[in-house]
Amino acid sequence: MNTGEVYRSDADQRVSERVRTIALFTAILGLVINFFVCAVYVASGVSNFLIYAEVAVYASILAAMTVCALRRYQIKRTFTIGLLSIFAVFWVGTFIEALTEQTAPFDFPLVLFVPLFLVIILHHKILFSLIPVQAVCVYFYTSEFAVHSLGPDWTATDQQAFSFMIAAFSGFSFCALGIVAFARERADDRLYELISEKIALASTDGLTGLMNRRAFMEHLRRIWPTRSRVQIAFIDLDHFKPLNDQYGHSVGDEVLKTVAERIGHVPAVSATARLGGDEFAVLIEENASAHTVEDILTALHQALSRDIEWESGLITIGASIGYAEGITTQQSLSGLLRSADTAMRRAKNGHLDWAMFNPQIDNAALATSTLEVELKSAIRNGQIKAAIQPIANAKTRDTVAYELLTRWTDSGFERDPSPTDFIPIAEKLGLLNEILWVTLDEALSHLDLCAHQLAINVSPAQLLASDFLASLVSILERHEVSPNSITIEITEEVAFRNVDRNVAILNEARALGISIALDDFGTGYSSLSMLDTLPLDKLKIDQSFVRKSDQSEQSKSILLAAIRLAKQLGLESCVEGIETQQFAARVAVLGADHIQGYWIGRPQLVKDAKAAVKLAS
Ligand code: C2E
Ligand code: MG
Ligand code: MG
Repeated sequence: MNTGEVYRSDADQRVSERVRTIALFTAILGLVINFFVCAVYVASGVSNFLIYAEVAVYASILAAMTVCALRRYQIKRTFTIGLLSIFAVFWVGTFIEALTEQTAPFDFPLVLFVPLFLVIILHHKILFSLIPVQAVCVYFYTSEFAVHSLGPDWTATDQQAFSFMIAAFSGFSFCALGIVAFARERADDRLYELISEKIALASTDGLTGLMNRRAFMEHLRRIWPTRSRVQIAFIDLDHFKPLNDQYGHSVGDEVLKTVAERIGHVPAVSATARLGGDEFAVLIEENASAHTVEDILTALHQALSRDIEWESGLITIGASIGYAEGITTQQSLSGLLRSADTAMRRAKNGHLDWAMFNPQIDNAALATSTLEVELKSAIRNGQIKAAIQPIANAKTRDTVAYELLTRWTDSGFERDPSPTDFIPIAEKLGLLNEILWVTLDEALSHLDLCAHQLAINVSPAQLLASDFLASLVSILERHEVSPNSITIEITEEVAFRNVDRNVAILNEARALGISIALDDFGTGYSSLSMLDTLPLDKLKIDQSFVRKSDQSEQSKSILLAAIRLAKQLGLESCVEGIETQQFAARVAVLGADHIQGYWIGRPQLVKDAKAAVKLAS
């Protein structure tokens, strides 16, 4: 199917939806009218079998039209045949009634107007061909049956002239209807063209004339239920950006056009799209076997790797191609797209011509890219929730603070991703601040901030965002929370890059009253000089120290040294990962100020936190 056909079928679909609505409305309205007419006959005691037979035939035809419209079966044809049948039944019934002398004088106007309403929405050609039928029927009916009661003392010439005039009038009214129908059909055709043009404009990539991403996805969605498997390839041009920079955008555009044209010449490609930038996608023909797929991918790669002739010489391009196939009953379309994309990235990173998606090799990368895609919508859809974990005084075990943590809930995955899965991805995508504002906002709306502190985790990239402190302060102001009740937990990475800038921001935060804690102390490349460089108030000693302290005296001494170091530097110490009472007692003896861990309390979604927590104001 080429791009034009895709748009036409889209327009056809919209127009036929309109026809269906009209057909359904007409048939249901007809059924309702038929029912009321029948009810009137019954109420007025009419016992004529012929009338009820006629009503029953109308009802059957209209019911058949309704069913066809509902089931989208041959809507136009059944609609036309249905109305024509009602027209024919009307005239046959009328003549039988007249011949059996069961007509009343007031039936006469019915033969003029009822057929008019029956055919009003038919095609103009049918309307024009019905003119003689209607005129002849009206003439015979009038001259043979009606005229005697209308003008009993008319002469034979008067009767003929009257019948002829009435027949001509009825014929003209059909003719007028035909002209109106013709005008309406022209308007409909124009509308159809406009819809096709609009769809084409919205679905075409302006530069290459290929489908754009939207149209390609729409096309895949449409064919998905009709095929057992769908095979696609994603193509990403190599070194396109430097080429664009070196030769200029007009050359870049020509390259993209040439690529589009070349893809079009590769056999067994059934649809091609430019997804954006230098990314293309192709849908492979339905019955391509495993062997031919390899040939197709090789042909695609060869076509795209041929140099392009340009005024100033030859332009060398290349392409990385990722292929994936999906069994439509077992897999989702979005899963297939991600697989092809993952295979394409492997081809690019491994400098391969093409790569076929292989679950054994690509599943880990696929999981990451799936999380990347889903995380953004998770934030938008409110699946990212705030959780809090208590931090207690090591001696009294009273809760003195809470740490704000993030949870991804109702993710739709087999298991909800943990922060260790998605926080690095959020960091890579620059979404950590967005997550912080969402969770902090949720936490502050639920918590009563009177007697406790709230610690938030902030990574170096978050700190560097130009509006970080301003946004933080504005959220605190909105919830009427003093900066004194907030602690920023940073990790030692803050001291690795942009140290001066990070230190400046932390100092600014401290000037506002916010405390700074160094998180996970002892895990990374902890250098003691860092403690001197960073403006700190607290030291959070990593949970690994606690665990090891059980294993040897040496490890216990290191934990003690870390607690003492904090004390000597004038910092509050907090030991993380306290899972048992025994550990809690041990670190209290060693002199830790605060403790945090499952024994004190596990992280809990803020909305589930039972007691309203009071943070210091
Ligand atoms: P963290 O800041 O050191 O937070 C403490 C982590 O230790 C939490 O894991 C918590 O559930 C876990 N934990 C607490 N007590 C115990 C215990 O007794 N035993 C054990 N085994 N674990 C305990 P979580 O929530 O999975 O978070 C992991 C890390 O992800 C956090 O470590 C933090 O660095 C990061 N993180 C979590 N939420 C956010 C966030 O909103 N923003 C940023 N930037 N980082 C976050
Ligand atoms: Mg932390
Ligand atoms: Mg920690």
